[in-house]
Amino acid sequence: MVKIYTSPLECPPIPNTSVFTHLFSSTNYPSSAPAFIDAATGTSLTRGQIKHLALSFGYGVRNHPTTSASAKRGDTVLIYSPNSLTWPVVLFGAVAAGLRCTLSNTAYNARELAFQYTDSRAKLIFSSEDGVAVVRQTLKELGVSKAEADKRIIVMTESLQWAGGPSVPIKPELAGLLTVADLLKLGTLKHEEKFEGDLANETAYLCYSSGTTGKPKGVETTHKNIISVLMMVVPAFPPMESGVDSMLGFLPFYHIYGAVKLLHFPFTVGAPVAIMSRFDPDQFCAYVEKYKITISLIVPPVLVVLARHPAVDQYDLSSLETLCSGAAPLGAALSKQVLDRLTPKRKSKKTLKILQGYGLTETSPTTHLVPPEAAVSKIGSIGVLLPRLEARLVVDGDGDGDIDAAEGAPGEIWIRGPSVMKGYLNNTEATKNAITPDQWFKTGDIAIRDKDGFYYIVDRRKELIKYKGFQVPPAELESVLLTHPDIADTAVIGVDSAKEATELPRAYVVPAHPLKSEAEKAAFSKNIKAWIQTKVARHKFLRGGVVVIDAIPKSAAGKILRRELRDKAKEELAGR
Ligand code: AMP
Repeated sequence: MVKIYTSPLECPPIPNTSVFTHLFSSTNYPSSAPAFIDAATGTSLTRGQIKHLALSFGYGVRNHPTTSASAKRGDTVLIYSPNSLTWPVVLFGAVAAGLRCTLSNTAYNARELAFQYTDSRAKLIFSSEDGVAVVRQTLKELGVSKAEADKRIIVMTESLQWAGGPSVPIKPELAGLLTVADLLKLGTLKHEEKFEGDLANETAYLCYSSGTTGKPKGVETTHKNIISVLMMVVPAFPPMESGVDSMLGFLPFYHIYGAVKLLHFPFTVGAPVAIMSRFDPDQFCAYVEKYKITISLIVPPVLVVLARHPAVDQYDLSSLETLCSGAAPLGAALSKQVLDRLTPKRKSKKTLKILQGYGLTETSPTTHLVPPEAAVSKIGSIGVLLPRLEARLVVDGDGDGDIDAAEGAPGEIWIRGPSVMKGYLNNTEATKNAITPDQWFKTGDIAIRDKDGFYYIVDRRKELIKYKGFQVPPAELESVLLTHPDIADTAVIGVDSAKEATELPRAYVVPAHPLKSEAEKAAFSKNIKAWIQTKVARHKFLRGGVVVIDAIPKSAAGKILRRELRDKAKEELAGR
């Protein structure tokens, strides 16, 4: 029998319009209110400035003589930059110009970036100064001449002079490349490109996710998806007060979690965001104190830092009222350790809450959140279903006869609603495997639901490994490992590290030539571990180890039996 769960929460009807129109539709906040602050320099932009700069950027990217031929409505542009004050201008400006943005992990090397650039059919690349070398290498490997490549790159410079901030000279090797500041000078769009009615179902963003299986795929996130999630989280999130609340923005904007929750959401509720280019324990604490941060979105490893790092004792973190964790499992014990450490130091009467949320790139992202009043009673839960979503917990999702779990029993979370992606870009097969004909999206995560409607993740059905919130698709690592001449077969799984509050990728490898002694095996493993570091982004390094094995366990159909390997790894690691 089909058992459909709905949300206990409600939210107003969702408008069919563009993300840009929605962001600037509210009249509740003055245009002079601060929107984004560069935490390091204090340079800030108001809501009004952001709108003007985004419309100017949109005009520049559509009308610049060297970019205008390529950047027209519906075209895709790629952003390859750590968090910066330039991000909201570029992202909102591209949306205002009617462009689609594909957001790329800045740890990617040329091979990884080339895949996303080609797969998304991006026309232009907006890159940080540090990223240009990789971008140039990417385009070179794709056979693009240097002269042509340099026409496709627009630099997001370190100088924030265009925002009234400090002027920093551009790196000499980048001289002559077009910069965001150049594009801002040309004019201003009278209004944004409109995506009214059915056009709101056009794709706005393309983040990459491996989904339940295989290599990364472009997730088509529509204008409507984004607006839906922005409105759906409000009833479950702590109430935010303009002029009082502020957020710290270090989670990467290139992940949908950072993009939606740190660039879009705070803007719609009138809260400024102090932007950090990356997480650093000392800076985190210093900026919480300096900018009186009330809310910070985090991933579980940040709580490990807050539980142990000495910087916590050197700053006043009393303004922090909410830490909201997502993107990976958060254990109740770790939350308790942080509360036990921070609570006695507080100079504020307001209690610190640690909340958890859950979601996927494919669901734009949040589907579940713990409302603040349940922070203590439902510790360890991912929360309740957001309004306008439906959920099923399915025991057997492979055949026609999908069975829904009994009340309180585990099942795979299936989600239906307005924030579920349109599909995987140019990949009908993967889309068909992920979304059923009646629009249920299969998450690949196993959960139970308690009698109060709170969900708890208990297992993962899919292959995916998450290192500190970043996706590590085993299929991708396996295909890289198989290019090594001394590897005959391999399988990659995730192992838990309680110490770092994350999973670590671990490879089982069958050597192409037999290895006789333990010493030979150890040397071989060490070499493979070092070799992979020359091939993939940092978050995909084999931190969980490389283990020599005689044969990879497989089903009769040749499918890797990952559960068997996970159990084996548990035994091996328990013995340490
Ligand atoms: P991504 O698409 O990169 O956001 O990854 C989505 C996946 O991250 C989910 O399918 C889960 O496996 C995992 N995930 C996200 N949030 C949580 C959470 N709160 N608890 C457990 N796993 C999570």
